[in-house]
Amino acid sequence: MTESYREFYRRSLEDRDGFWREQAALIDWQRPFDRVLDYGRPPFARWYPGGTTNLCHNAVDRHLAARANQPAIAYISTETGVERTYSYAQLYDEVNVCAAMLQALGVGRGDRVLIYMPMVPEALFAMLATVRIGAIHSVVFGGFASHSLAARIDDARPTVMITADAGMRMGKIIAYRPLVEEALRLAQHPPAKVVTLDRGLDRSGGRSAERDLDYAVLHREHSGARVPVAWIESNEPSYILYTSGTTGTPKGVQHDTGGYAVALAASMKHIYCGGPGETYFATSDIGWVVGHSYIVYGPLIAGMTTVVYEGVPIRPDAGIWWRIVEQYKVAVMFSAPTAIRVLKKHDPAYLRKYDLSSLKNLFLAGEPLDEPTARWISDGLGRSVIDHYWQTETGWSILAAYPGVEVTPLKHGSPSFPAYGYDLRLLHETTGAEVGDNEKGVVALAPPLPPGCLTTIWGQDERFVKTYFGSFPGKLMYSTFDWGIRDTDGYYFILGRTDDVINVAGHRLGTREIEEAVCGHADIAEAAVVGIQDPVKGQVPVAFAVAKDAARFSDPRERAALEHELLALVDQQIGAIGRPARVHFVTMLPKTRSGKVLRRSIQALAEGREPGDLTTLDDPSGIEQIRTAVAEATSR
Ligand code: AMP
Repeated sequence: MTESYREFYRRSLEDRDGFWREQAALIDWQRPFDRVLDYGRPPFARWYPGGTTNLCHNAVDRHLAARANQPAIAYISTETGVERTYSYAQLYDEVNVCAAMLQALGVGRGDRVLIYMPMVPEALFAMLATVRIGAIHSVVFGGFASHSLAARIDDARPTVMITADAGMRMGKIIAYRPLVEEALRLAQHPPAKVVTLDRGLDRSGGRSAERDLDYAVLHREHSGARVPVAWIESNEPSYILYTSGTTGTPKGVQHDTGGYAVALAASMKHIYCGGPGETYFATSDIGWVVGHSYIVYGPLIAGMTTVVYEGVPIRPDAGIWWRIVEQYKVAVMFSAPTAIRVLKKHDPAYLRKYDLSSLKNLFLAGEPLDEPTARWISDGLGRSVIDHYWQTETGWSILAAYPGVEVTPLKHGSPSFPAYGYDLRLLHETTGAEVGDNEKGVVALAPPLPPGCLTTIWGQDERFVKTYFGSFPGKLMYSTFDWGIRDTDGYYFILGRTDDVINVAGHRLGTREIEEAVCGHADIAEAAVVGIQDPVKGQVPVAFAVAKDAARFSDPRERAALEHELLALVDQQIGAIGRPARVHFVTMLPKTRSGKVLRRSIQALAEGREPGDLTTLDDPSGIEQIRTAVAEATSR
C-alpha cells in the first residue's frame, strides 16, 4: 500500500517515536537504543540514547557480505587525469590502514582529526577512518586560506591533521603546504602531527622532522592492518563542520552519530530513491555539508557507488558531467543552481550528447533556484529537477519532494514541502506569531529537531541556544534565518536570508525576487541584487548582471538598451518598487567556492565600503569586476 506524503509527514510528527523507530531499522546497531528520543533538556535532543553504532561500520563493513566487489567509490579527476574505482573490499582495506595510522599517531576516541584535502579518495578514507575509531573529524574546505584554517584548528584543537601537497583547479596547481605552514604558525593549538599526501604536484612548504609525516610511508608501515570498529553511543559526536554566521566567528556545527546515520539512510530511501548497486553523483566538495552527507555517508550507507569528482563542470568541456552520468550509470545526481547557470552559458547540445537513461532525478540545493534555470535544465535533461532546501546545521533537507513516498507535482521555484520530522512554521519576524498562506515569514522549526540535525555548537552549548533559538522572545524556536512563504497548495518558497532582506521605502523585498525577474530576460545568465543605502527610500536595489553573450553588450548603447529592458521587466514582474536603481554589467559574480554569491561583499562595494572577509572567495576577478563597475558608474 502506498502512503501519501501528507499522511507520512503527519505520522512523523504525531507518532514521532514510532516513526523514527521504524527508520532506525535502516542501519545496524551494535547495542539497541533504550529510547527513541530523550528530550529532557530542551532544546537539546538526544536521539536513540543508549544505542551504540558506528558510521564507518554502516558505510563500509556491513556491505562486505553482499557487495565486496561492487565499486564503492568512482574517482574521477579531470584535473590530473586520474580515474579509478575502489570496491567496498578495497575501501575497507584503505580505511583500516588509515585507521591504524591514526591510532599509531595517538588519536583516540573523542579526539579531533582535521582534514584539509582536495577531492581525492584519501580524504574519504581519512573521514571514515576517523569515525571508525570513535574520533571526530573536522573537514576544512581546501579553498580556505591560512587564517580561516588557523581559526578552525584553534577551535577544534585536533590531535592530527591530514593534508595534501596540493589541489588542482582549472589546470592550475593550488599549493596547500605553504597555507598549512602559515596556519600552523598562526595557530595557538597546532596539532602535534601532520600527515601529508604527496600527489607529486608541488614541493613547496617546509616539512619538520618531528611533526610532518608522509601518507605513503605510513601507508606502507600499516599495510594490511585491521582495526576493529569502536562502538559508540548514538549521541557521541561524529564530526564538526564550521559555518559562518553573522558574527564573523565560525561556528563548529556538531553532528551526532546514530541520529545522523538514520537521517541519511532514511533520506536515501524517501527523498533520493538511491539503492544498493546504483550510483550517486553529488558535485559538491567534501569540505561542505553536502559532501559529508551525500558524497560520503549517505550513498555509502545505502550501499551505492559514490562519484568523487575533482574538476569543474566545463572542463574539458561542458559535457563532462553528462559523460560521467553515462559512463557510471548515475541514478541520482545532486548539484547546485549556480553550476547549472554556468552550464546554461554553454551549448545545450551537451545535454543531449550522452545516454542519460540511468538518471532518475536531478536534485539541486544551496541557494534559490530561479525558475528560468530550473526550466532550462529540466527541459534539457527531460528529468524532474527537485529543488530542496537545507543547511549545514540540519545535515539533510528541511524542504524537499519525496518521490520515495509519493511523486508529487513540482512547482518551479519551490522546494516543495517540509521534510518528515520537521515541525516547520513560518513566523512573524518580531512577534513570532504564525503567518498565513501567501504571507512572508521566517522559516522556523519547533524543537526537538529531527535526527541528523546539529546537536550543539562545538564546545559552546550556550551559543547554540542563543544563536538558533533566541530569535523569538518567549518561544523556543529554531530560526533558519531564511524568509519563506507558503502558497495555498502548501508549497513553500524560500525568499532569501533574513539578514539579506532589503527595505525600500518601508516595503520589504527579497533580493531573490528581483534577481529572478532580471534572470527571466533571455540575454541574462545570472544576476545579483543587493540593497544599497538611499537617503530618501532607506535602501534601493542595485543589480549586477551577467549577460550570456558579453561581447554583444560591449557597446554602451547596447548595454543601455538592455538595462532599460531589464528595468521594464522588473516593473512588469514585481512592480516599480522592486526596480533596481541601476544595472551594472559584469562577466562574472564574486562567489564562494561552493557557489554562493558574496552579496554582502557586493553590497559593501556598491556602497563604497571595503568588501570585508573574502576568505571563501573563489575567483578574485569577480570582486574586481564589481569594484570597477561601481567606480565607472560613479565617475560617469
Ligand atoms: P549552507 O549552510 O552553507 O548550506 O547554507 C544554507 C543556506 O543556503 C540556507 O539557510 C538558505 O539561505 C540557502 N539555501 C540552501 N538551499 C536552498 C534552496 N534550495 N533554496 C533557497 N535557498 C537555499
